[in-house]
Amino acid sequence: MTPLPPGSTIGILGGGQLGRMLAIAAAQLGYRCHIYSSDKTSVAADVAAQFTCAADEDIEALGAFADACDVITYEFENVPVAPLTAISRKAPLYPPVAALDVAQNRIAEKEFARSNGGRTAPFAEVTDRESLDSAVNQVGLPAILKTIRMGYDGKGQTRIRKGDDPAKHWDAVAHQPCVAEGFITFTHEFSVILVRGQDGQVRYWDTPHNIHAEGILAKSLIPAPAEIIAQENAARALATKMADALDYVGVLTSEFFATADGPVFNEMAPRVHNSGHWTIEGSITSQFENHIRAICGLPLGDTGKAADKIEMTNIIGGTADEWQAVLQDPANHLHLYGKGESRAGRKMGHVTKLFF
Ligand code: AMP
Repeated sequence: MTPLPPGSTIGILGGGQLGRMLAIAAAQLGYRCHIYSSDKTSVAADVAAQFTCAADEDIEALGAFADACDVITYEFENVPVAPLTAISRKAPLYPPVAALDVAQNRIAEKEFARSNGGRTAPFAEVTDRESLDSAVNQVGLPAILKTIRMGYDGKGQTRIRKGDDPAKHWDAVAHQPCVAEGFITFTHEFSVILVRGQDGQVRYWDTPHNIHAEGILAKSLIPAPAEIIAQENAARALATKMADALDYVGVLTSEFFATADGPVFNEMAPRVHNSGHWTIEGSITSQFENHIRAICGLPLGDTGKAADKIEMTNIIGGTADEWQAVLQDPANHLHLYGKGESRAGRKMGHVTKLFF
């Protein structure tokens, strides 16, 4: 493991706010970032040295991008896996493609968690209208129907209640292959955010209590309540087992429901995560910096928290002048992602407040 020297170029697949915050952390360590995105407006490219705008499947453009990078990572998990396997021969790619492969498929992800000893919601595959009926019979009602691929932030999912017309829900997911999940009764939601280095060393941040509204993260709070802390060790053990099994390098986020019977694994993100944004000011080393350290082969930084209590609140959609109100409190750290247009459900920024 030879550390990548400052001045080297880090390639980032995906051009959103996670790439933007990764690029800022990389710049602080003396690296240059090259963003690859199919979207010509990229808030990551706005803060990076280079930008390639090309389709996710464009082998030629991906090859040229890989040739120009010393290491490659991704901030967006819906990138197709096949072309990545090809470019990982040109430049090291972290986290490994195997992690992406698992995380892109909700069924593979749940099976992977179970094979590592984790508990998940009961689930059944839905491939057509008829199998929806048998899947619902199997998992019971209420149930959540989620597209197997490409879903995030509550998109590509619908909740089926007793008495509903199943056809309406099948239409709602556009007849895509789905997983039907039994509804989990939980007291809280939380995530395990860990970083694993190239030498296999693992560090964890404090476990945030995550509050969602309409399927989208609204707040992450540190410290988490006792009900979550009581389940932290079991959840960390599962997350670590999965990271070790994948020979993972970088930040890995695993989301859990805290239930009366212990933690239930929901999903994993092979990347930095919204529930870790509080780490920028709220911990000694942020998730973004430690992800860059891990993929560049540098020693990992301290993940300890920097305040007694930390509150991260997302700015979602909202009015154009919301940021001015946020700045009225001098203790607030405001992060705006530089996205031009505010739409309902769109993550525009976040605010972190530390309490001592
Ligand atoms: P996901 O896209 O899987 O992260 O789901 C978004 C949100 O929907 C979660 O954060 C939960 O609040 C809720 N949710 C998802 N799956 C379930 C489930 N099986 N039981 C209860 N709530 C769920």
